[in-house]
Amino acid sequence: MKILVVNSGSSSIKYRLFDMADESLLANGLVERIGIQGSLINHYPAGKDAFIKEIEIPDHRKGIELVIDALLDNKYGVIKSISEITAVGHRVVHGGEKYSGSVLLNDDVMDTLNEFIELAPLHNPPNILGIKVCQELLPGIPQVGVFDTAFHQSIPEQAFLYGLPYSFYEKYRIRRYGFHGTSHKYVAQKAAEILGKDLKELKVITCHLGNGSSITAVKEGKSVDTSLGFGTISGVIMGTRCGDIDPAIIPYLMEKEKLSFKEINDILYKKSGFMGLSEGISSDMRDLEAQVSNGNKRAKRTLDVLYYGLKKYIGAYTAAMNGLDVLVFTAGIGENSPLLRKTVCEGLSFFGIEIDDKKNDGLKGKKAIISTENSKVKIFVIPTDEELMIAHDTAEICNNFNG
Ligand code: ADP
Repeated sequence: MKILVVNSGSSSIKYRLFDMADESLLANGLVERIGIQGSLINHYPAGKDAFIKEIEIPDHRKGIELVIDALLDNKYGVIKSISEITAVGHRVVHGGEKYSGSVLLNDDVMDTLNEFIELAPLHNPPNILGIKVCQELLPGIPQVGVFDTAFHQSIPEQAFLYGLPYSFYEKYRIRRYGFHGTSHKYVAQKAAEILGKDLKELKVITCHLGNGSSITAVKEGKSVDTSLGFGTISGVIMGTRCGDIDPAIIPYLMEKEKLSFKEINDILYKKSGFMGLSEGISSDMRDLEAQVSNGNKRAKRTLDVLYYGLKKYIGAYTAAMNGLDVLVFTAGIGENSPLLRKTVCEGLSFFGIEIDDKKNDGLKGKKAIISTENSKVKIFVIPTDEELMIAHDTAEICNNFNG
């Protein structure tokens, strides 16, 4: 069974083709700068030369056409006919309150997805566009939607409601949704697998730390709380997003600086976090760590805020679950920053969290247990693989569908 995974963004399309027999990656690639000058396709077939071509890509339709051509190409291709593709799995950012799992994308589901555009105005429209183009260009091949929000639909009301007038929840569905769900679910399951335990028996905290970051508490195999919420700015500070702030700051700043709705939004989403706190050093963790080692105070205070925020979430979620068995670090920063992992875990021995410096030092992008033998909490680094998880869900839905 071959599954194509598509992640369609506003100006890019990422794709991967998996052979589910052994979960091997047959090809992956990226269509970039759709509708912008200098558009290109980067195609990486397993065991063959990469193929990178600059070509005009005015829209997503042309982008997907190029992906299909690349997969079928005589020299760079990995399949002979599109009928070899059993199904296509799509990453969809927002599934609202309706989807707590992945779904076959029929007309009814597509109508519902359109309703969620107002909840994710930047992300859902290009996701939907990618699905529509694939439906047109790959007729008869089942398409499955896998939602970033789905895993978090198990969060109980006490954790998903905000302290606003309840009518806003009823009218506008304002609540905590959470994101990165596919990643949190994947790494939590992997950790349980490595320990040889059922995830349902474990209390797990997963830290997905990338350009966007979120922390999730997983109990009895379900997400019970997560740090991103209605939008994608709450929780710990991120590359350019502010993380948790007192909401009183927003009207105060708007008044003081005479800011429009768009301007304040830009500050919260694009000019804050690492970039804002460091006064423009960078939104990239590597640059900040390099500056800290050069003694830069602006970089240091920025990372101190991040470390402290992470410690607080770990403490809060340990309390929420009445204990902790497993702590997982994943995504760009979580997988590649031994310094962050060490600093965050230090001083948490009260919770039974003890990191082994020898195992942690220098560990980048590899699956490993980095806690000491005696640590009550097992600490893991697990590279995330959202695409493989999407492929799994897609395969499962197709198997169920085919009876
Ligand atoms: P996205 O949310 O865009 O998927 P990623 O998961 O790729 O982001 O994470 C990007 C972040 O990971 C950046 O802040 C980057 O600096 C950080 N990162 C990548 N490699 C390293 C490294 N070797 N050391 C520290 N941080 C790293």
